[in-house]
Amino acid sequence: MIIDLRSDTVTKPTGAMLEAMLKADVGDNVFNDDPTVLQLEQKAAAMFGMESALFCVSGTMTNQLAIRIHCSPGSEVICDKLSHVYLYEGGGIALNAFSSTKTLEGDRGRITAAQVEEAINNKNDIHLPVSRMVSLENTMNKGGGSIYNFKEIENIKEVCTQNKLKLHLDGARIFNALVETNDSPLSYGKVFDTISICLSKGLGCPVGSLLLGSEELITQARRFRKVMGGGWRQAGFLAACGIYALDHQIERLKEDHKRAKEIGSLLSKQEFVANVYPIETNIVIFELANKMHASDFVAQMSARGLLCSGFGKHLVRFVTHLDFTDVQMEALEEVFRK
Ligand SMILES: *Cc1c(COP(=O)(O)O)cnc(C)c1O
Repeated sequence: MIIDLRSDTVTKPTGAMLEAMLKADVGDNVFNDDPTVLQLEQKAAAMFGMESALFCVSGTMTNQLAIRIHCSPGSEVICDKLSHVYLYEGGGIALNAFSSTKTLEGDRGRITAAQVEEAINNKNDIHLPVSRMVSLENTMNKGGGSIYNFKEIENIKEVCTQNKLKLHLDGARIFNALVETNDSPLSYGKVFDTISICLSKGLGCPVGSLLLGSEELITQARRFRKVMGGGWRQAGFLAACGIYALDHQIERLKEDHKRAKEIGSLLSKQEFVANVYPIETNIVIFELANKMHASDFVAQMSARGLLCSGFGKHLVRFVTHLDFTDVQMEALEEVFRK
């Protein structure tokens, strides 16, 4: 038995999701007449109270499109130094938007309004890049699935409004945050100019992300999606999975969180563990004892059928998801015992 906890992206569609795909009514999304894509886009936009949405192949694409439309050459993006947009998108901020980043040191990836305010460049100083946008991540992957306090997000919005900065949310795992805090997605729609959500993470879809925003911004993003080669044809088959996931697979994220906490308490009793990060959602990050290298640990676990990710020299990440079963949980305990 292989237990795959490398990421919540490894899930396969359920039977019911596959059935939804088979029944999908499709068209050509480059002509913007695929009815199932339109339905998904309208559904997601409405959930967050935003005007419009764009269905894309990945969260990297939706984040990069947002940055591309908010920035112009010589702009600067303010974000935490652990941000996905900065660390894991291939330098896309430079490549796609000809812009730089000012990275801040947050609390497990969460920055404050005061930090943002201090990071804004004087726009009259020609030496400096032009501060143009702030990008937040919720939940924060590299912070161990940490959740933002919505009040702080509102404070950051205030600073952005005063300084004419755009505010983007990398919400690859926003539903993991929402099921824990019971904040409304509508309140998120009110403060962010653009929101990226992933369907292919905890929601269990094989492929897909959405960028949400105003009609005007999404029209611009649609143009750049085409330029990036992201125009897809009968994408409705994949959009059908997204509709199914939004209807049926949000509440169950709580089960992933419960499992993650169980794994965390198991880990904290192991000799090979120095310290487990606080667990708020479905991500477990821990530090290995005795300066053991994450790559060695990952290789040893992999030989025993447990797949996980190195997340720093001595850090390891486990992510719980839809396809992680009770039987696998027992098997995992057995691997640790040995
Ligand atoms: C996974 C992820 C993304 C997008 O990744 P893709 O693999 O391109 O879909 C963006 N932000 C965060 C925080 C992520 O975890």
